[in-house]
Amino acid sequence: MNDIKLALLGSEGTGKSAVLVRFLTKRFIGEYASNANSLYHKRLSIDGRQLNLDVFDPCSESAGSRCITEEPVDWADGFVVVYNISDRPSFLHAIGILQQIKEARVEPYKGETEVPICLVGNKQDLCHARQVEAEEGRSLALENKCHFQEVSASEGYQEIANLFTWLIRQVMEH
Ligand code: GDP
Repeated sequence: MNDIKLALLGSEGTGKSAVLVRFLTKRFIGEYASNANSLYHKRLSIDGRQLNLDVFDPCSESAGSRCITEEPVDWADGFVVVYNISDRPSFLHAIGILQQIKEARVEPYKGETEVPICLVGNKQDLCHARQVEAEEGRSLALENKCHFQEVSASEGYQEIANLFTWLIRQVMEH
């Protein structure tokens, strides 16, 4: 598969756009206008394969609501579910999102979710104001059979690049 479609989901303000922009440009954009659904395109090469990457970053309204739109859930080949480690409600929202993905994308025969997901605890730089322990993120990921990573879009590039690379590799293997 050379066309890869990913979607970022999570509460408003968790830093979805900042995480994505960091991955795409290696830079941190502090204030990013995110009042519209955005679809980003990038051509990249992983393991010697040329890929067309599309990433859907839904606007705050749809991403922040309790009910995520069906659109990205049906459309994407892989998901990045983002919460803010200094905001517990965003973690609780992430639990609901994982549940919704599971329900929408369950493999009929295996009974397992067929799509790769990475659970991301963003704003690791705000650990002095931490409301969600890394262990909680890790066990939620384990329960849902997804990858887990804490990152800081404002301070680091490498972990963010690693998680996208992991996700893209998983999609390619599917
Ligand atoms: P979105 O609504 O989920 O797309 O969130 P944004 O990307 O618009 O980010 C929301 C706010 O959090 C903005 O003020 C960002 O500057 C800030 N932000 C994003 N990532 C980080 C981070 O890793 N650390 C800190 N301290 N702030 C961040």
